[in-house]
Amino acid sequence: MTTSNNFDIILAGGGIMGCAIAYNLLKRDATLRVLIVERDSSYDRSSTVLSDGNTRVQFNLKPNIEMSLYGLEVLATFSEEFATADHTPHIDFRQQGNLYLVNAAGEDFAKQGIATQQSLGCAVEWLERAAIEQLYPLLSLPDDVVGGSFGRKDGSMSPLAVLQGYRRKSMELGATFLEANIAALLKEGDQMTGLRLANGDVYHAPIVFNVTGAWAPILAEPLGVNLPLISLNRQVFTVEIDAHLDEILPMLLLPNGIYLFHEGGSSFIVGGASPDDFVTYDDFSWSRTRFEEQMWEKLVDYLPSFDRLKVTNGWSGLYAINTFDHNAILGEWPGLRGYYCANGFSGHGFQQCHAVGRFSAELILGLPHELDLSMFLAKRIAENRPIYENPARLI
Ligand SMILES: Cc1cc2nc3c(=O)[nH]c(=O)nc-3n(C[C@H](O)[C@H](O)[C@H](O)COP(=O)(O)OP(=O)(O)OC[C@H]3O[C@@H](n4cnc5c(N)ncnc54)[C@H](O)[C@@H]3O)c2cc1C
Repeated sequence: MTTSNNFDIILAGGGIMGCAIAYNLLKRDATLRVLIVERDSSYDRSSTVLSDGNTRVQFNLKPNIEMSLYGLEVLATFSEEFATADHTPHIDFRQQGNLYLVNAAGEDFAKQGIATQQSLGCAVEWLERAAIEQLYPLLSLPDDVVGGSFGRKDGSMSPLAVLQGYRRKSMELGATFLEANIAALLKEGDQMTGLRLANGDVYHAPIVFNVTGAWAPILAEPLGVNLPLISLNRQVFTVEIDAHLDEILPMLLLPNGIYLFHEGGSSFIVGGASPDDFVTYDDFSWSRTRFEEQMWEKLVDYLPSFDRLKVTNGWSGLYAINTFDHNAILGEWPGLRGYYCANGFSGHGFQQCHAVGRFSAELILGLPHELDLSMFLAKRIAENRPIYENPARLI
């Protein structure tokens, strides 16, 4: 063992969570020895880069809304805050707004959400059918749509640029970045001690964050940590319709669960959960048939002009579903000192990285919390206290 293999904190995984936690730690204490271990610096398969890069304040739980509000603050000055000596990040944040169509069954719940969001100062409003049709001229609303919830400041950006911003800045602040495959996280008794790489090298630290995203259970299980996570292959499609729009339309979520991002002109990105999403850690396959058989008709129900379109491309990414309650799992795992989580974000981890990074650093450094996320601590799993975002228990 050489002393250079000794660290105060190891981030196992260098996606958005690993890099955001490293940055927040070093920003508060530049003397910390922080190691980030990431197996693939191209991030080809990381969920962060394969995500839609969207952020929204339209949640029902107050801390989820507050996390997004804090995210908006960070994004507003991202280029300046995350500029390094040789790089200024450009995240292309486009606040086109997110519009969620609501049917009668969802009306009370949506209005409750809007009231909570507005009480926290969010730019969210209820739109009647006529206002929706004006905002989104491609829509032909079925009778069951009673209105919509519109978050004016919700929007999308380049997730790779945000990730690289956190990564470069944390390295400038002193983080060591190692490109290597982790074979195992290590403990002695009930205390974490570090990790072992696939090549046999061992790195030591009393605090290890398992921030390997959808792959987290692979390293957690041998330690006796049973994370309630499943990793699903979730597919996204790019399509061209037979009409050209000069203005960028809002992101649109249909009551049937399908969502669309207008990318400009005639291009859209379409996605959503499918009963055929399958459990995997390494199958990134993608199929046009999935769109044709499961999404197309449901889109046309709301957007008649989508009956003529071309599927031009697509991709799949791993979607880490928290089967316990679909919310973040944060903090130390009960009974295993030094094992820290930032997992289980389901479809909203990218936008929560700013608040999770700050909260995790405050936990480690014993600082007061600027935004208390204690309700998401991992101990709620052992205590069987799920926190649901909505009555359908989905997020
Ligand atoms: C299709 C899709 C769309 C999404 N859209 C959104 C969205 O619009 N908004 C939003 O907020 N969220 C979205 N999400 C969710 C979001 O992408 C994730 O919650 C978030 O990126 C998780 O970040 P992470 O750092 O935990 O995981 P990752 O980005 O996957 O990072 C984990 C890293 O760990 C590394 N790793 C794993 N195992 C090892 C090992 N053994 N050794 C070394 N390194 C290892 C991986 O290479 C990876 O880089 C979406 C997800 C998908 C799949």
